[in-house]
Amino acid sequence: MAENKCHTLNFIIVIHHRINAAKQKNGSKAKVVVGASGTWQYNYDPAKIEEYGLYAIVEGDLGGIGPELDGVGGRFFDAVINNELETANPFKKSEFKVEVKEFDKNGRKYHGRFVHYSREPKVDEIPDIINPSMHGMVEVMRGCGRGCKFCDVTLRPLRYYPVEKVQNEIRVNMKYGGLKNAWIHSDDIFVYGLNPRTTKNMQPNREAIEELFKGIMETGVEHTNPTHGTLAGAIADERLIPNLSRIIKSGPTNHIGVQCGFETGSIRLIGKYADRKLAPFRPSEWHWVVKEGVKTLNENYWVPAFTLIMGLDNNETADDSWETIQLIHQLEKEQPDSKFTVTPLTFVPIGLLEKSDFFDIGNTMDPAKLGVMYKTWQHNFKYAIHKFMHKVGQNDPIKKFFFASLARHWVVYL
Ligand code: SF4
Repeated sequence: MAENKCHTLNFIIVIHHRINAAKQKNGSKAKVVVGASGTWQYNYDPAKIEEYGLYAIVEGDLGGIGPELDGVGGRFFDAVINNELETANPFKKSEFKVEVKEFDKNGRKYHGRFVHYSREPKVDEIPDIINPSMHGMVEVMRGCGRGCKFCDVTLRPLRYYPVEKVQNEIRVNMKYGGLKNAWIHSDDIFVYGLNPRTTKNMQPNREAIEELFKGIMETGVEHTNPTHGTLAGAIADERLIPNLSRIIKSGPTNHIGVQCGFETGSIRLIGKYADRKLAPFRPSEWHWVVKEGVKTLNENYWVPAFTLIMGLDNNETADDSWETIQLIHQLEKEQPDSKFTVTPLTFVPIGLLEKSDFFDIGNTMDPAKLGVMYKTWQHNFKYAIHKFMHKVGQNDPIKKFFFASLARHWVVYL
């Protein structure tokens, strides 16, 4: 994932510099508009708004704006051309809400025009891909519904793609991209097919998930794995992972990589910020959920790649950090043959916490947080890279990419 992001970032930088050079050469006054779900990063590094010469940043799910999707694109670009997005005017009724933000960074002021568009496309308004996607990734749902406060995915409505739509996209990848794998994108695959409003305790809809993966395998792909899944979802139904593993043929030579949010070992923090991530379990059971989740996944040849959040909402105490270290340590001691990686990420204020501050890693690290970084590095080096990473992905370039990039991320990070 890190390598993926790195390539994408380089590509974006190159594109912006080319656009700027072309505008300069031709004396063009074209307005450059950017969008998609990574736009929060401009809040973190507003100098890039100036460097890239951005006219506007469209926040959220760009799928709602694209002209090919639901016809709104025409109105959006008319508004851009007619200068209707020049200023933020709360009294003017518009489907495009403009927010002009001012940033004070490194002693300088930067400004950015952020545009919000609230309507999300329905599943039947989202077109199938017509060209192969990167690494065979296909979306199977949008939204999540678990309600973690530090996440913006959960603020979007839940939409599930029908199996036929997923199959069509995989066939495009196979036919035009020669791909033999399907990398199944969701933010929690174990939510697929359930209605969080009516489903008690987020109990997975096992039948729907099984049907999805049966449909995926019917296309003839040799390997498939989901991008993300929660540990609680994985163990909420004891037949789910064994059944899925039979369907997707996991085994000693076919490990299934999945990214799972470990977030924190702190019972206090997980209860405060992500209690429904654990449903149907309780925050007090978090350590058990993590251990049982790793055990169940590993027994069925799944390997979780954990991410955790450093400085969650700037509310992480030394005791919280030590609990994280302790949980990783207990996993290593109690399950010495377990297979998992852990990657720390710094807190980013999005979702319900968008008014909070970014975690300032340069100025707010304390010995306990450094301990978390060291522990994750030690685990990945000693337990992951040496013990199993060379095995995972030996016969599949996507799995190799997935795990090897995590390992490389660590080398770069440190
Ligand atoms: S489970 Fe993951 S995708 Fe869902 S709300 Fe929590 S962090 Fe977001």
